[in-house]
Amino acid sequence: PIPLSRRCGKRPIRVSFEFFPPKNDEGEVALWDAIKRLEPLRPDFVSVTYGAGGTTRERTQATVTRLVRETALKPAAHLTCVGASRDEVDGVVRDYAAAGVRHIVALRGDPPGGVGSAYAPHPEGYQTTAELVRGVRRNGDFEVFVSAYPERHPESPSVDHDLDVLQAKVDAGATRAITQFFFDNEVYFRFVERARARGIDIPIVPGIVPVQNFKQTAGFAARCGASVPNWLAERFEGLENDPATRRLIAAAVAAEQAIDLLDRGVRDFHFYTMNRADLVYATCHLLGMRPEAEATPADAQLRRAANG
Ligand code: FAD
Repeated sequence: PIPLSRRCGKRPIRVSFEFFPPKNDEGEVALWDAIKRLEPLRPDFVSVTYGAGGTTRERTQATVTRLVRETALKPAAHLTCVGASRDEVDGVVRDYAAAGVRHIVALRGDPPGGVGSAYAPHPEGYQTTAELVRGVRRNGDFEVFVSAYPERHPESPSVDHDLDVLQAKVDAGATRAITQFFFDNEVYFRFVERARARGIDIPIVPGIVPVQNFKQTAGFAARCGASVPNWLAERFEGLENDPATRRLIAAAVAAEQAIDLLDRGVRDFHFYTMNRADLVYATCHLLGMRPEAEATPADAQLRRAANG
């Protein structure tokens, strides 16, 4: 059969885009440039991260609310329970419910000492992510997404333990998992197979990080337990002072990964955009996505109503 990536016509793809809340006016402009560029691709949802330990609480809320107010996009707000009481977390959830947000990415969060230091739940807080998922659902009509770790979470003794934790989050009501990023697709397929063998049946959406900056991505990968294959490092070797070639290589790497996933049956993709649109837009284009004409405000309102 002809691989889907080589077939002409519209392909049944769903994508979502992750952004982080901007730190300053310049970041705000860059973020909204990226959102506006990616919006015509009609992502399934766009998510906004919650800074370590909830440090961007106001900025995350402001970005999510602006998305509700000014776009037809469906925002998913990331929310962590580290370092916060149940009342505090429930307050944020209820604010989102009141603002018309219907999707939350529920996470535990990293310990204040950073990845690798000991985690202790807040004495009056949600003790586990599964408890947080239940709490979110109790406080509003939300669809709740959670994380998954194909290469093991740094604190986890085994992938089996990670799968126990994922199962608990599904039992608590999570309807979709988004994976930590990875570069070797085999890792993802093996993880999905193990999850399915245990009866975990929610979509497990691959998180894809286009390599905007290899050094930075490798550093981030080391902290979150994602491995960087030697072949990937080799591809960026010697390009430290050649940003133009680096960008072309990055586009090729992202394209190769996404097309392989597509041709092996994946239809949902989550992109870690790092608030930059170009590489993500190009990859989506290769996956067969095309922009739709700009929606009028009336269209936008209709679409929002249909999305619930
Ligand atoms: P869980 O799913 O609850 O646990 C992850 C793994 O850690 C488990 O599988 C388990 O093996 C191990 N573990 C957890 N608790 C224990 C325990 N008590 N004892 C032993 N092992 C344990 N962080 C942010 O701060 N803000 C964000 O917006 C954000 N967004 C993210 C989005 C995605 C898609 C992903 C994959 C991660 C994101 N993170 C974010 C990072 C996340 O907060 C950290 O990885 C955190 O350390 C774990 O949170 P979790 O919800 O994934 O934890």
